[in-house]
Amino acid sequence: MSQLRKDPVTGRWVAFHPERVRKAVEIVTLRSPRQRGHSCYYCQGREAETPPEIFALRQEGTAPNTPGWSTRVVPHPVPSLRVERQLVREGLGMFDRMSGVGAHEVIVESPNHEADLSGLENRALEKVFLTYRDRVADLKRDQRLRYISVFKEHGIGRRFMTGHSISEILGLPVTPLGIKTELNQCRQYFGYKQRCIFCDIIRDEQRMNERVVFENEGFIVFEPFAARYPFETWVLPKQHQSDIVLLDSGEGVQQLAEAMRTALLLIREALLDPPYGFVLHTMPNTVPRPDYWESIDQDYHWHFEIVPRVRESSGLDCASGSFVNPVLPEEAADFLRETRQRSATC
Ligand SMILES: [Zn+2]
Ligand SMILES: [Zn+2]
Ligand SMILES: [Zn+2]
Repeated sequence: MSQLRKDPVTGRWVAFHPERVRKAVEIVTLRSPRQRGHSCYYCQGREAETPPEIFALRQEGTAPNTPGWSTRVVPHPVPSLRVERQLVREGLGMFDRMSGVGAHEVIVESPNHEADLSGLENRALEKVFLTYRDRVADLKRDQRLRYISVFKEHGIGRRFMTGHSISEILGLPVTPLGIKTELNQCRQYFGYKQRCIFCDIIRDEQRMNERVVFENEGFIVFEPFAARYPFETWVLPKQHQSDIVLLDSGEGVQQLAEAMRTALLLIREALLDPPYGFVLHTMPNTVPRPDYWESIDQDYHWHFEIVPRVRESSGLDCASGSFVNPVLPEEAADFLRETRQRSATC
């Protein structure tokens, strides 16, 4: 039966036209052929072929831009934005224009060409998330940057061309609209209830237990109530935390790695290794904006949003900014939980 659901965080409406789950899981083939390692400059031993590294987690005693690293961050070869430029804002009549200042970096997740993010060993996967955390913290020191976006595209288009598993970071001179919408809703909700909306969502998801896919002590994985896409999956810290910068290097990152791995492996297994993307939503850089509200630490709650690419967007998505989703999140959660029971790997 069709229904409309409102996302409590953004206020966006999503139309559900449930078909059978399995029918909806017709994979759109967006995958590019995966290149072989010999042409890949992200592989260990090819450090000299990338621009000098910005950051790396590497074995003690190894020099920058040599082998011996677990994760390595280099400038994007074709950056969308550049740090060296001066930030210029100008008005063109009623329109605003800004120079393309910012950072665009590639996080090489592993020295091994064949490694896949969800297949990394525990410690190696933890290092990827520690790299996310440390790059966000470092880029926030640049006061020209308002928002640091970390994202990954797996198996999709040009980003996949080298075949080496990478994530990307954009340091932006503006806060993206989607984040702004979330922030505003969070502030409003907090102003009204004096509670974080995400903490309330976590509590209700646990109580209803219809959309929760996995939980450990620190993190929860669930299908959001008004999921925009089939099998859209969110991963949140269970204790309130506004910014990934606050993630601790011990149990915190271990639990995050376990939760993300479980979510990605279940999606891979249930949907036959679909292309997917995920994005980190975390607190913007408040330093250059003293006008950010005081409660932002208490009302915003960082998280990952994972979206498997199992269907092309419909005309309505593009035309109206609304979404049509053929799979109810409860059905998606059931399907992932069944997959988990069947599988010993996650
Ligand atoms: Zn490689
Ligand atoms: Zn919270
Ligand atoms: Zn979000």
